[in-house]
Amino acid sequence: MTEMTEHHEAIVIGAGVAGIYQIKRLLDMGMDATVLEAAGGLGGTWYNNRYPGARFDSESYTYGFTFSKEVLAEWDWKERYSPQPDNLEYLEFVADKFDLRQHMQFNCRVDSAHFDDEENIWHLVVNGSRRMSCRWLIMGVGLLSIPTMPRLDGVDDFKGDSFHTFSWPHEGYDLTGKKVGIIGTGATAIQVIGDIADKVGSLHVFQRRANWAAPLNNSKISKEEMAEIRSRYHQIFEVCNRTPGGFEHEPDRRGFYEVSREEREKLWNKLYKEPGFGIWLANFREIFMDEKANEELSEWIADRIRDRVKDKATAEKLIPRDHGFGVQRVPLETGYYEAYNRPNVHLVDLNEEKLVRVTENGLQTEAAAYDFDVIIYATGFDAITGAYDRIDIRGANGAVLRDKWETRITTYLGMFIEGFPNMIMPNGPQSGSASTNYPRGIEIGVSWVSDFLEYARANGHTRVEPAGDATERWTQHVEKMYSVMLMRKAKSWFTGYNSNVKGHEAGTIRYLVYNGGTPKYVSIVNQVVADGYAGLVFDGDPDGGAKAETEFTRRAAE
Ligand code: NAP
Repeated sequence: MTEMTEHHEAIVIGAGVAGIYQIKRLLDMGMDATVLEAAGGLGGTWYNNRYPGARFDSESYTYGFTFSKEVLAEWDWKERYSPQPDNLEYLEFVADKFDLRQHMQFNCRVDSAHFDDEENIWHLVVNGSRRMSCRWLIMGVGLLSIPTMPRLDGVDDFKGDSFHTFSWPHEGYDLTGKKVGIIGTGATAIQVIGDIADKVGSLHVFQRRANWAAPLNNSKISKEEMAEIRSRYHQIFEVCNRTPGGFEHEPDRRGFYEVSREEREKLWNKLYKEPGFGIWLANFREIFMDEKANEELSEWIADRIRDRVKDKATAEKLIPRDHGFGVQRVPLETGYYEAYNRPNVHLVDLNEEKLVRVTENGLQTEAAAYDFDVIIYATGFDAITGAYDRIDIRGANGAVLRDKWETRITTYLGMFIEGFPNMIMPNGPQSGSASTNYPRGIEIGVSWVSDFLEYARANGHTRVEPAGDATERWTQHVEKMYSVMLMRKAKSWFTGYNSNVKGHEAGTIRYLVYNGGTPKYVSIVNQVVADGYAGLVFDGDPDGGAKAETEFTRRAAE
């Protein structure tokens, strides 16, 4: 260590939902810790994504932190699906309540993190030259924090204004009357389009693959309703804890084929009118695993699109043909389909006319040149591992994480990586977070990591890493979970698909998320603790690895 190195016992990278709770827990245990955040403020997703229409798809009152009774008592949600400004305000409220900002350093981009095998310490370089070090490196870098642009020529040639939705101007941007082109029809674009269609002069939507979407059915929450919700918080979070996705929507436990087609339609009609993910998550469980069941539901949803979009040809183009409903995370919409009934909104099908390039004036397809004042890139993210890849992370013996994960993602519990001692991921790849109501998964991860660090400190451990056999078993368990889900066939960020990122093309599944559901994940990680942190090797003692052959193996095989 040079004199210039700033040392902390723990460094947390990222001041989003995970980083905020993580620093709180580290400070509570009296640890010297700091958060490094690349952005200018805290909030992660809710700091960055300020595009029109950005809001929760989780019920607001299930999204908040549960660790503080005071926060639950003091914060009022104003809408069932709260918009971005309120969500950021909420996270700032939590951070200020516990005086956390003084432990956060903004505009600090971590360039590299190298593990020192002799000292069991991580050495970081921040913003090109600043040197820092820590015993424990905790990654709260976000799942969707690296936006990707299309690999198109001419992006810089455009003379008008253009933004990726992730980098929407913080001061806001007035689209009134403007000629707008938007690329993408993912969850983000679907929110933007529903919000701006009636404000812009014209809107051209460039769609490559159609995406299933369902109504959000948002509403205001009155003071009285909030009081009623508050009185049920305990019950609400109990439900979230027992559902696979950590939402308040519980699957319909009747068998899909045990009830008549009429009964199924009755359920779907009800769920389609209800708020949120009910039509996806309160549906029959077979829709996620059984092709025939999924096809029947998909056809029913397709008819709803046909009901809502007046132009028949446009409706057919908006119906996905390459995947079934719910095998990707379902975008929730407000007026998305109705937007296409407006004379100023036009769908451009990129299967009929491929995008060729960006020009000075707009977008050029094989068929036409489109002139715009503004281009919006709603083109998604280098999901889950993208933020790790952007840091030069080197573990024991100089192993490069980016290389290790190039062909196969391997982790232990989604929290540890073999060969990368003392690096911990409360919401990493293959952890319980990504496929859930995000903060519910984060609280589980952060609590587990915090308890683990208390244990490690109390026992004087200075080095921990997962054993190879435990890592392999966990990774195989994660991979096996995909094999039963139709999701494995989807070209989505859950399977590592993003045509803008070289090497993550369709057909090469990357096992990025844990699909076993929250209750199973919790039971496994708790069992690991009960077995004396089975699967982890402390201070190079291989006995820890041997302990991996325990209850966990049995549960993972179930
Ligand atoms: P996304 O789902 O990956 O969608 C990206 C879109 O851009 C896709 O339609 C994609 O088309 C298109 N695209 C990408 N590159 C293109 C190119 N070169 N040419 C033409 N089209 C291109 O990303 P997202 O919409 O930002 O959503 C990501 C995730 O964020 C969601 O799944 C969700 O979990 C989360 N999210 C949540 C909320 C919320 O309600 N809280 C809102 C927004 C997002 P292809 O499908 O053909 O690749």
